[in-house]
Amino acid sequence: MYPDLQKELATFERRTPKSAEAHKKNLKRIPLGVASNYRAYDPWPIFVKEASGSKFRDLDGNEYIDHNLTFGALMAGHCHPAVMKAVEKRLSTGTMFGMPHDMEWELAEEICNRFPVEMCRFGNSGTEATMHAIRLARAVTRRDYIIKFDGGYHGHSDGLLAKAGSGIATQGIPGTPGVPEAFAALTITIPFNDLNALREVLAARGHEIACLIGEPVPANMGVVLPEPGYWEEVRRLLDAHGSLLLFDEVITGFRLGWQGGQGWSGVTPDLCTLGKIIGGGLPAAAYGGRAEFMRRIAPEGPVYQAGTLSGNPLAVAAGLATLRELQRTLPYSSLASLTDELAEGLRQAASDAGVPVTVNHVASILTVFFTEGPVTDFHSAARSDTQRFAAFFHACLRHGVMLAPSQFEATFVSTAHTEAEIAQTIAGAHLAFQEVAS
Ligand code: PMP
Repeated sequence: MYPDLQKELATFERRTPKSAEAHKKNLKRIPLGVASNYRAYDPWPIFVKEASGSKFRDLDGNEYIDHNLTFGALMAGHCHPAVMKAVEKRLSTGTMFGMPHDMEWELAEEICNRFPVEMCRFGNSGTEATMHAIRLARAVTRRDYIIKFDGGYHGHSDGLLAKAGSGIATQGIPGTPGVPEAFAALTITIPFNDLNALREVLAARGHEIACLIGEPVPANMGVVLPEPGYWEEVRRLLDAHGSLLLFDEVITGFRLGWQGGQGWSGVTPDLCTLGKIIGGGLPAAAYGGRAEFMRRIAPEGPVYQAGTLSGNPLAVAAGLATLRELQRTLPYSSLASLTDELAEGLRQAASDAGVPVTVNHVASILTVFFTEGPVTDFHSAARSDTQRFAAFFHACLRHGVMLAPSQFEATFVSTAHTEAEIAQTIAGAHLAFQEVAS
């Protein structure tokens, strides 16, 4: 183990005894002691007592500036007054009806007016949204295979947990026990930013490919930017083979700008998914696209989709309040400047400490990769020193800053973050870089 990491973990243990106790209790009944694998890190995760704006406090009273923000869901920060008010108001009318309600239309209208989608359907999680969108792509094209990028994450449905086999463009192999080989084999994985790999797959089996699923700016291998012209050529190649383009905008939707990755890249997919921000911190997600495709969903068409809690009124109210708040405050350019400042501050702090890093950033997301880079795909991201990253992450925690908890996740800025807090984050990271420099 990285020597600084060992020291860091010992300090963490001393600072978080109540989290340790809570985790120990959880472990008896909950595997790993967490509700989602991504929340687990050594020696135990921080248990949160309360949160507000850009900050949260743990059970032991330690306070942190939050740059994880529920993995990007909390665009307006914790407990935004407009979101809280909307949820409270909605709560008094019921929690779920198992029948439609009038706010679903408002959120759908808001989304369709912003995103180049004509219709959308709601679910509860990004995982559901991508699973449904892929089912629809397969139904539309009558093809079974999909393409995803090495290191890309689109939720935990079986076929999307396929990982790369050997070779540049390969049939996926199960990424976890429990995924049948036959399911993983329907997923072909290629490196991001590599047009030749895509050409190779399409030349060999384009007629079998239902869709390519990708984040317009991948944020789950850490933030990785597409090469100029990349998506235009991907779109052209897929069109030539009758395969659909599916943008997974669970993170990038309403994050890269009003039109998400579609506005940012200038490329319109056939289908897209949304999540996180459209639920304002409550469980909501959606998939959408051309009406011609969406009308194939049951009961109008034959393609099955259901969900007891889909379109939950509280989640819809929180999402709608968040989107309206974004509309009221028009924060995208100020968020981008704050994030530029943060990225530059982190680069400078690493350079002052002599720690080689690559900071990729766009809009209000960034990743500090502990490698000289450049980082252009998962394979270059994977050259990062993950032990040093872990030591840095824990050192930042000690300085009151919560960054992305994994080397391969994004760090976020919300509309609740102020210039002063960004400066505090940079100051904390500056100390942390010095401490992991040896
Ligand atoms: N797609 C992307 C791009 C994501 O980042 C995530 C979650 N981080 C998902 C899908 C899955 O969403 P959920 O965790 O809500 O199921």
